[in-house]
Amino acid sequence: MKVPLLDLKGQYQSIKKEIDEAVQKVIDSQYFIMGPDVAKLEEEISNYLNCQFSVGVSSGTDALLLALMALDIEPGDEIIVPTYSFFATAGIVARLNAKPVFVDIDPITFNIDPKLIEKKITSKTKAIIPVHLYGQSADINPIMQLARKYSLFVVEDAAQAIGTQYKDGRFVGTIGDIGCFSFFPSKNLGGFGDGGIVTTNNPNLEHKLRIMRVHGMEPKYYHKLIGGNFRLDSLQAAILRVKLPHLDKWSDKRRQNAALYTKYFFEAGLAEEGGRLAFDSNNKVLLPQAVYKPNEEQIAQGVLKNYHIYNQFVIRVEKRDELWEYMKKKDIGCEVYYPVPFHRQECFQYLDCKDADYPHSNFAAVNSLALPVYPELSEEQIKFVVDTITKFMK
Ligand SMILES: *Cc1c(COP(=O)(O)O)cnc(C)c1O
Repeated sequence: MKVPLLDLKGQYQSIKKEIDEAVQKVIDSQYFIMGPDVAKLEEEISNYLNCQFSVGVSSGTDALLLALMALDIEPGDEIIVPTYSFFATAGIVARLNAKPVFVDIDPITFNIDPKLIEKKITSKTKAIIPVHLYGQSADINPIMQLARKYSLFVVEDAAQAIGTQYKDGRFVGTIGDIGCFSFFPSKNLGGFGDGGIVTTNNPNLEHKLRIMRVHGMEPKYYHKLIGGNFRLDSLQAAILRVKLPHLDKWSDKRRQNAALYTKYFFEAGLAEEGGRLAFDSNNKVLLPQAVYKPNEEQIAQGVLKNYHIYNQFVIRVEKRDELWEYMKKKDIGCEVYYPVPFHRQECFQYLDCKDADYPHSNFAAVNSLALPVYPELSEEQIKFVVDTITKFMK
């Protein structure tokens, strides 16, 4: 049996007619830049996330870059980021000649550990960028409290978490000053190329984000600010508008797949209930944990459904690289997100970070392995993945 890490063709087939029509409509109009679909998508995303403003942009990376530019981040400013994330989270900070300041992750959630942030705050600190990694919210309340205490901005990197809710039901990306999302094809809401969106509830920031998306231009050919070309294509917006109404159903399927993995790993005796964080004979596989699961009342009310949207299902195992090789031979797609935390990246050696300050990120970098969890995956395929890992463990 073949199990790819992701199968985008299946999803396309299920909505092909609608997508093809939407694309053809844009082509017929020849309105490729800032056409009506961009504004409509922005409105629909704002409604979906229950926030005031959304501004479509060219990628998740550009969403983050534009956010920092709109907040007037300057050379020398310090921006606090988790050391364990996709490169863009730190890359955009360095691109503005600001200084990324790395913080270790919480070992259970893989997200920035709020307890470690305060001691990294200095008089130069301007912002914190929590990442909602793999589709689960970072612990945002204590981060917002610190931000208020020290007058810092919070830019949420929600690239992997569109639709994810924090424990109080709020959608991630709408809690800090600016939320940043990616429509990279492998994200839960993926376009047919690059794309992204920024969200905010602050009208002044919205205005700035909007004009900085088009070179800081307002009115046409008059520039008060320096922005860039950060526009979202009309074609992408049209495709994303077709996909958005399906997003919750797809995220549901991912959660069901995660539950199936958990069930089969328990049955195989590779993991046990109760959330162990250390390897032992009953816990050869450390499963991802959803820490904001709804209580019974919330389930009855149907709120907090998206406590985790499993953009990735990341297990931790001891002989990770050997298992990964084994899975490749068995035609099962797996991936390592991420093998090198920022403090160990060559390009950040000038920051002179102390490796021992980041034990949990270092642990995750060596042990984590993402298994296929996309919505179209079948139960048989999930069982096959667990069976294959079981064979390897024996
Ligand atoms: C994908 C991703 C980004 C960047 O998004 P692009 O659309 O690929 O530029 C940023 N941060 C995180 C955490 C991501 O996963």
